[in-house]
Amino acid sequence: MIVGDPDQARESREPVADAVVSIMTFVGEGVLHVSKEHAAGHHLKFDSTLGSDRRAAAPTREQREDERPTGNQHGIHQMFTRQRHTYKGIGTNRGGSPVTSMEPVATGVTPKERAPKTDRSKQTRNRAVRLAVLTVGLAIITLLGYGHQAGWGKVAGVDALCPFGGIETLWSLIISATFLQRVAASSVVLLAIVVVIAVVFRRSFCGYICPFGALQEWFGKIGGLIWKKRRPEMPAWLDRPARYLKYVVLVVFAALSWTTATLAIRPYDPWVAYMHLGSPSLATAWADFSIGFVVLALALAGSIVYDRFFCKYLCPMGALLAIITPLSVFKIRRNADTCTSCKACDKACPMNVVVSTVETVKSPECIDCSLCVEACPVKDTLEVTGPKKKDGKRVALGTMAVLGSVIAIIAVGLAVSTATGTFAWTLPTLAEAKPGTLVTPETFDVETIKGSTTFAEASKATGIPASAWIAKWGITEEQMGDKIGEAVGANGFDVETDVREWVKQQLEANMNGSSSTAPAPTSTPTPEPAATAPAETPATGSSTTSSFDVDTIVGSMTFADAAKKSGIPESEWKAKFKITGAQMNEKIGPTVKTKGLDVETDVRTWVTEQLAAKRLLP
Ligand code: SF4
Ligand code: SF4
Repeated sequence: MIVGDPDQARESREPVADAVVSIMTFVGEGVLHVSKEHAAGHHLKFDSTLGSDRRAAAPTREQREDERPTGNQHGIHQMFTRQRHTYKGIGTNRGGSPVTSMEPVATGVTPKERAPKTDRSKQTRNRAVRLAVLTVGLAIITLLGYGHQAGWGKVAGVDALCPFGGIETLWSLIISATFLQRVAASSVVLLAIVVVIAVVFRRSFCGYICPFGALQEWFGKIGGLIWKKRRPEMPAWLDRPARYLKYVVLVVFAALSWTTATLAIRPYDPWVAYMHLGSPSLATAWADFSIGFVVLALALAGSIVYDRFFCKYLCPMGALLAIITPLSVFKIRRNADTCTSCKACDKACPMNVVVSTVETVKSPECIDCSLCVEACPVKDTLEVTGPKKKDGKRVALGTMAVLGSVIAIIAVGLAVSTATGTFAWTLPTLAEAKPGTLVTPETFDVETIKGSTTFAEASKATGIPASAWIAKWGITEEQMGDKIGEAVGANGFDVETDVREWVKQQLEANMNGSSSTAPAPTSTPTPEPAATAPAETPATGSSTTSSFDVDTIVGSMTFADAAKKSGIPESEWKAKFKITGAQMNEKIGPTVKTKGLDVETDVRTWVTEQLAAKRLLP
C-alpha cells in the first residue's frame, strides 16, 4: 500500500526496484522472462526465499515512464497493482498469499490488463479546444454587450441575447403572444436551442458554450494557481443543500416574471451586470444593477475557491437544464471491466460528481464538460454514448464529435432563425415617417424607441417636432443628436416607461387632432424653441365625458371596461399596472391586489389624476 505523497513514494522506491530488477535480470535472464511474456499474461511465481517485498519486481524505468502520466497517487498505486499482476510472484499471489514456485503461470489476461492507454496528447488537445471554444464564446458575447452599450450598429441588448429571457417571457408569449419589455424572439430561439442541446447532450451547453461558465472557469484557474492541486472543498453539510438553491431561484424568478410581466431577475442577474460593465455611465449602471454587481463579484470570487460556484449553487438556467437531463439521449458511461478505479475522473470533475463508481453519469449536477473523459487513462473506459446499435453496442462519440454537434445545433438554429427574421441581432431601426402620413400608436411601435435612439431619430420617426422634445426633456437643440437613454437618465427618467409613454400620448393627441404643437407628420421637423408639449386627449372612440365618476370603477370591472369607460388608453393601464394585453380582460380587483394595490384608493386615485391631466374632470 502506498501512502503519503505519491512523488515521494516513487522517489524512495525506484532505486531499490531498479537495483533488484537489474540483479534478477543478470542472474536469471531467459528464465524469468520479465517483460513481453508477462505482458502477454505469463505470470511468474518466485521462490518465497527470494523475499516477499513486491518492490523487488518493480517495473523498469521505461515501464514507469509509460505509467507516469496518470500523475497522482491512484495512478502510482495502480502502476504497482498492475505490476503485481504481471510480475506476481515476489512472495505473493493474487490473493496476497505466499508463493513458492518460479514456474511461469498463464493466468489469462483480464480486460483491465489488456485495455490500452488513452492518447494523453489527444486528451490535452481536446481539453484545450474545449476551453478555446468557451473562451471564444465569452469574447463574442462580451463584444456584443460592449457594442450594445456603445451603440455600435444598434446591437441587441443582453436581455434579447440570453436564453433565460425566453423562460421569463414564456407565459406572456403563451397567453397574449407578446414579449416582455426588452426581451425579443431571439431569447425564445436561444432557449429552444439550449433545450434541444439538453435533450441530445444533457448539459453540454454549460460544459462547452455558456459564456458565464467560461468566465467562472477562468477565475477557477486563478484558484488553481493559488492552491495548486489542494483547492478547498465546500463542506458536504453545506454543499448538498446549497445545490438546491438554483432550483429555488428558477421557480421564484420564473413565477415573478410570469405574474408581474417584468424581467424580475434583471436587477439581481450577475450576467446582466457583467454585460453593463461597458456602460458609458458606470454610475448609472451601478444604480440600476448594484445587486447584480455584488452577485457577480460573489460568483467570480466563489469560483476562485470552488470551481463553477454560480453554476453549482445559483444558476436558474443550469437548474432548468438539470431537470431535462433524464430525457437526454447521450450520456457518459463507464466501462467497469476496464476501469482501474484510479479516480482520475473524480479529481478532474469541476462539479464534484463521482464518476468512478457509477455505470452511467446521471447526476443533474454534471455539466457534461467531458473533463472526466479526457482525464481517464484507460482507452474507451469513459465514453459519451447514445442509443444501442443493431450489434448491441452503443453509439459512442468522442469529445470533439460532441463539441462539433453542439456547435452545429447552435449554428443551424441561429442561421434558420436569422434567415427567417426571427432572430434579430440588432435593434429595429426607426424608419422615418413618410411625409403626409399620420403617425399613430397603431402604426408606430413605441417599443422601437430604445435608450440608444437619438432624439433626432425619434423625432423623424414619430413626427413629433424637435421643439416638443426640447421642451419636454429640457434639452438643447444641439442635444437632439444625443442618445435618449443617457440624456433622460441623467434627469432620473427612464426610456422604457417615461419616454415611450410620452410618445404614445403625443401620437394619440396627434391622431385626435387636438395637439397644438405636434404638426402633421413631416420628414424633418424643425426645432421651435418656444414650443410646448401638446395637450393630451382621450383615446379615439372613448366614451369618456367630463362627468365620468371614478367611483363607478369597481373591483369586478375588467381593465378593458375601465379603459373604455374612462377613456384612458389601454396602453396606459398596461404600463401603470404592469399587465399584458390578455390581462386587460381580467378583473381589476384581484389583479391589483396581487400587486399590493387597492381599487378604491390606488386605482381610483390614479384614474382621477389621469383624467385631470387630460382635463376631463372638472
Ligand atoms: S449552470 Fe448556468 S452559468 Fe453555469 S454553465 Fe450552465 S447556464 Fe452557464
Ligand atoms: S462528471 Fe465529467 S462531464 Fe460531468 S461535470 Fe464532471 S467532469 Fe464534467
